[in-house]
Amino acid sequence: MSRPLQAATLAVRTGIESDPAQGAVVPPIYLSTNYAFKGFDQKRDFDYSRSGNPTRSVLAEAMTKLEGGCDSVITNTGMSAVNLVTALLNPGDLLIAPHDCYGGSYRLFDSLAKKGAFEVVFIDQSNESELQKALERNPRLVWLETPSNPLLRIVDVQKICSMAKSVGALIAVDNTFLSPALQQPLLLGADIVVHSATKYLNGHSDVVAGVVVSKDPELAEKLSWWANCLGLTGGAFDSYLILRGLRTLNVRMRTHQENALQLAHYLTDNPWVSHVYYPGLESDPGHQLAKKQQAGFGGMLSFELAMDLDQMKLLLASLELFSLAESLGGVESLVCHPATMTHAAMSEEALENAGVSQRLIRLSVGLEDGHDLVADLAQAFARIA
Ligand SMILES: *Cc1c(COP(=O)(O)O)cnc(C)c1O
Repeated sequence: MSRPLQAATLAVRTGIESDPAQGAVVPPIYLSTNYAFKGFDQKRDFDYSRSGNPTRSVLAEAMTKLEGGCDSVITNTGMSAVNLVTALLNPGDLLIAPHDCYGGSYRLFDSLAKKGAFEVVFIDQSNESELQKALERNPRLVWLETPSNPLLRIVDVQKICSMAKSVGALIAVDNTFLSPALQQPLLLGADIVVHSATKYLNGHSDVVAGVVVSKDPELAEKLSWWANCLGLTGGAFDSYLILRGLRTLNVRMRTHQENALQLAHYLTDNPWVSHVYYPGLESDPGHQLAKKQQAGFGGMLSFELAMDLDQMKLLLASLELFSLAESLGGVESLVCHPATMTHAAMSEEALENAGVSQRLIRLSVGLEDGHDLVADLAQAFARIA
């Protein structure tokens, strides 16, 4: 075929009809931990499932294609994917990370730095002079996460990559919030992409896993060596489920964001809501940048309530189609109160700095009918006196 296959096709077709034993259309699950040698000193493609597993390999191949990389490591959690990337750092190396990165990543970077594994500075990466000053310290690695959680702030990946490249730093992007269907950081200049596959990649809230995709073979080799050495690689059954989720990634992302935009418009017009954070709204400060570097605006949105805390609790308790739960990216809609849930470990001051107020609500908009979701919000707001 002359033209390169599109992402939706790659997500559906990778590994299909690749089984030499039975011609299974869907790649089978290899649960075996070990693989017999053909004979003395004659290893097959796989020997031991921590080091390599055929089912995990198909998922890795699909993720590599979708992100436009050269190889991927599938890890047992999103956090072990983040952890794996830090294995590239030596004592004395500097990591620059966003002050509003995922809480678990913040905790990991901070804790490893306190043990002397490397040094870390957390900065506001949208502030160019702050970023420039940090880059003058010659970091080994710059960590990006865009859109941020929970305020959906967008930073310019291409610009930061070229600034970081000029001082010889590696760039890793946590692409969990958008998935490769909506953002491909390697094509914008990054070296490494990290995912919590727990979220949109699997998409059905029934697997915890992660992915690290590398742009070049040398990095890929190092990361897969460390993944095996540290024992961070993902399980075969999990890989099978994520691959099954990945088949529908593109259609899911499309509906997630259609619904999110519908809810964002409804909330913008709601007198109980003082602010809506969604880059898909033209009024959002990240809108133009998101349009430039993303293929869509995603399914996450946050909003600020203009009501007292008792009214807020009644609102949350009245919702029927949004489960009060952490995590995101599943087919089911979720509502989260970041200050007491996902961001509870942060001090009051840190919450304030990050703009996470007690009246901030985050939605992971699911794949239910969009009008049903709006109607559910409307009936819950109608109960507030
Ligand atoms: C959930 C999440 C992680 C951590 O992934 P787990 O699968 O929970 O270990 C990392 N980054 C982001 C942006 C996340 O949302």
